[in-house]
Amino acid sequence: MQAGLPPELDALKNTIRQIVKNECYPLEAEFLANPTREGGDEGAPRGIAEALNGLLGTLPKEDWDRLNSISKETGIYTSFVPEEYGGGGMGALGHVVLDEEVHKSIVQLPTSPVPMMMIGAATPEQEQEYLIPSVEGKLHYAFGQTEPNAGSDPGGMMQTCAVLDGDDWVINGTKTFISGAESSDYLLLQAVTDPEKRQRGGITMFIVDNPSPGLSFDPIRLWINPAKDQQFTVNLDNVRVPQTKVLGEVGQGFTLGQKWLVHHDRLLRGSMAIGILTRALEMAIEWAKDRVTYGRPIADRQAIQWMLTDVYIDIMTLRASTRETAARADNDEDVRVEASMIKYCAGEWGWRSIDKIMQVFGGTGETLDLPIAHWYHILRHARIGGGTSEIHKFVMARGLLDGRVSFQG
Ligand SMILES: Cc1cc2nc3c(=O)[nH]c(=O)nc-3n(C[C@H](O)[C@H](O)[C@H](O)COP(=O)(O)OP(=O)(O)OC[C@H]3O[C@@H](n4cnc5c(N)ncnc54)[C@H](O)[C@@H]3O)c2cc1C
Repeated sequence: MQAGLPPELDALKNTIRQIVKNECYPLEAEFLANPTREGGDEGAPRGIAEALNGLLGTLPKEDWDRLNSISKETGIYTSFVPEEYGGGGMGALGHVVLDEEVHKSIVQLPTSPVPMMMIGAATPEQEQEYLIPSVEGKLHYAFGQTEPNAGSDPGGMMQTCAVLDGDDWVINGTKTFISGAESSDYLLLQAVTDPEKRQRGGITMFIVDNPSPGLSFDPIRLWINPAKDQQFTVNLDNVRVPQTKVLGEVGQGFTLGQKWLVHHDRLLRGSMAIGILTRALEMAIEWAKDRVTYGRPIADRQAIQWMLTDVYIDIMTLRASTRETAARADNDEDVRVEASMIKYCAGEWGWRSIDKIMQVFGGTGETLDLPIAHWYHILRHARIGGGTSEIHKFVMARGLLDGRVSFQG
């Protein structure tokens, strides 16, 4: 047992592990063999959850329905949602433990697509209309921050703007790379409302219904999933949003987005990388023992053993630091810099490790019959999505230089 993991969390981890093994692993071959499906992928997660769940294949609706029921009946589905919204109320540590287990299969056990950014920010009406149905999995959202000229510097370069006209805000602009935008029911979308203040009080978060007049999408083809468009350019042409659809306070939308990203993007990328690499290492060990060249299993060769041990080292160190950072977040500590470190390692180490796993598998590692090539894409993307490795190093350097982060132990 991981030092510091409470017994109830350890038990939950084992329950999820068994469910993922018994229910998700057997569906992987069918999932991978069908990147698209006639009639669509009914019952699958939509919106941002579609990309977060790595939906690189499809399943028959009855399989998605069964997975959803299992997740809901066991309480896993909403275990990380605060109790006042019908969830299990576990914190960041529980969430990373759960997320690691779920990522061991390319067929991910569905969990609630709740926009955690709404918690504490939504009005009672917004909670009823958007938050609660999202907790239950009835509505799916997408998150719109990035723009054609505003990726690494969204606060400084954002062009999409919203202007008050009577009771409505009128939004104009273009967002890009927005995951699951077209299949979402609503977008949580940032727009500049005060060009002087920008990220310091001049960017607001809007709830934009999909569809809305003036809202349109253009698909972006990516190497991650050429069979299925999951990222979109979002065009906003005089989209009218009532004032009641501002999430949080006017001008505070950038801060709201950043707070959410620390936990729900950065920490969870750590658990995602650990889950993927743990399963990939298990598979690689089995493969190396079976695959024979020059009269001996490749597992007998030091060249292969060292690749396996390199991956093991990455898993163990990343797991320890992800769980420690999550536990500190639960303790209300400021872990922004540490979360950047986790995100950095998830991308850089995740990519270097999955590359070694692919090497151990040789040509078989490049086939789409196994999840490895898909995992390679996902972990390579982790160096870019959610802020690039360079930007997270910049955040870490700032924390070190201005003394906000301690490395004394
Ligand atoms: C698959 C995918 C899904 C995505 N999903 C979403 C989503 O759902 N919602 C959303 O809002 N966005 C999303 N994004 C956008 C993503 O967050 C951005 O692509 C990312 O933040 C990088 O921005 P950029 O692509 O504009 O790169 P740029 O900012 O143009 O950076 C280009 C290069 O320059 C480097 N660089 C930039 N500035 C500096 C600097 N000051 N110092 C050193 N190096 C620097 C970068 O590290 C990078 O290597 C997604 C992107 C992808 C590819």
